[in-house]
Amino acid sequence: MSTTKTFPLTREQLEAVVATFPTPFYLYDEAALRANARRVNAAFSVFPEFTEHFAVKALPNPFVLKVLASEGFGADCASLPELILAQKAGITGEAVMFTSNETPAREYAFARDIGAVINLDDITHIDFLEKACGIPEVISCRYNPGPLKEGNVIIGKPEEAKYGFTKEQLFEGYAKLRDKGATRFALHTMVASNELSADYHVETARLLFELAAELHSTIGIRIEFVNVGGGAGIPYRPDQDELDIENVARGIREAYDAIVVPAGLDPLGVHVEWGRIITGPYGWLVTRAIHTKDTYRRYIGLDASMADLMRPGMYGAYHHITVPGKEAAPLTETYDVVGGLCENNDKFAVQRQLPEIEVGDLVVLHDAGAHGRAMGFNYNGKLRCGELLLRPDGQVVPIRRTETVDDYFATLDFDELSTFDAGGEA
Ligand SMILES: *Cc1c(COP(=O)(O)O)cnc(C)c1O
Repeated sequence: MSTTKTFPLTREQLEAVVATFPTPFYLYDEAALRANARRVNAAFSVFPEFTEHFAVKALPNPFVLKVLASEGFGADCASLPELILAQKAGITGEAVMFTSNETPAREYAFARDIGAVINLDDITHIDFLEKACGIPEVISCRYNPGPLKEGNVIIGKPEEAKYGFTKEQLFEGYAKLRDKGATRFALHTMVASNELSADYHVETARLLFELAAELHSTIGIRIEFVNVGGGAGIPYRPDQDELDIENVARGIREAYDAIVVPAGLDPLGVHVEWGRIITGPYGWLVTRAIHTKDTYRRYIGLDASMADLMRPGMYGAYHHITVPGKEAAPLTETYDVVGGLCENNDKFAVQRQLPEIEVGDLVVLHDAGAHGRAMGFNYNGKLRCGELLLRPDGQVVPIRRTETVDDYFATLDFDELSTFDAGGEA
């Protein structure tokens, strides 16, 4: 089984874009994003109420958020700037889920001010939240199922994860929240990352449904919606299959019919906060080969670096690579494809079979639409690249400019430096 890796522009179209917007840059395909959003909404229309709160951290660009919001998506935020981005994109009120941890008091206060659904990470945060801004009417708690749930490669075993309440703490926590005035309750968990198995996501929902039923029958807490979290995987490698979203929704609906309906909890909302699967496959890092090198290995040096896309260097993650115009060329060469950071793990690919690449060739890194530029950084004085959006009418518009040296220096005051007495011998 396999997934075909595509790019929405021909080499000629891309060269025309590059003439205006020099490489490197991220390109996102709006039509594909919309089609995918509609597919998710259609699959989950089997529930009385469904909301996808797009995980802002995956692609924190307000233009993309606005596109997703127009398809009915909410936002999942974890920090004050992410809450502001959601607001700027027009995602407001309970469409915003605030799933944070080790949260500062002022961020809770801001989340409450804008009417976001606050998702508590720990039982001690009930008193913390009350002190920070009072207990809102609607509140969510994050469940960590511990040894009840098998681990997942990236996120690890739940019992080793820092997130969430234990089961006992949840019962105590909801009762306490009710005593303090909360009237509407949600239940959240997130136990997966880049998980391609539909069963895994269905089992997670089942765990939440069972817990919602138990909370109702034992302490009379009625959960209004469960949030199954993020973690829906994408096939980074061409030999992997995509997650069958319809199958996930169908499986969760079966669990709903088996647990939620007999427990008398229908209608119960089903929410997710998917990031990667929403934007990942519809974003590309577009770069140019600026050097080739032949030593103990053969290298292709790109004008982008790990500072633009850190997943390969950080996790050894696979990102598919193609060379526009050479899609059909035989993969006769073996290269390490590298960036310019003074770090030997700044490699987009190690010993990858590719067509012959020459200096000047455009090189496209696939599946970079989530946790791509978002994870970028400025180490080594690297400036992060900008972002372009391919509109459905074929126009390419900038949605974030490339960083400049002035951006990099923006937090420094060189006037202060000129009068700063560093001491020492003159
Ligand atoms: C990272 C994260 C997500 C999104 O994860 P994806 O793997 O991108 O779907 C959702 N919710 C929370 C709480 C997260 O930390």
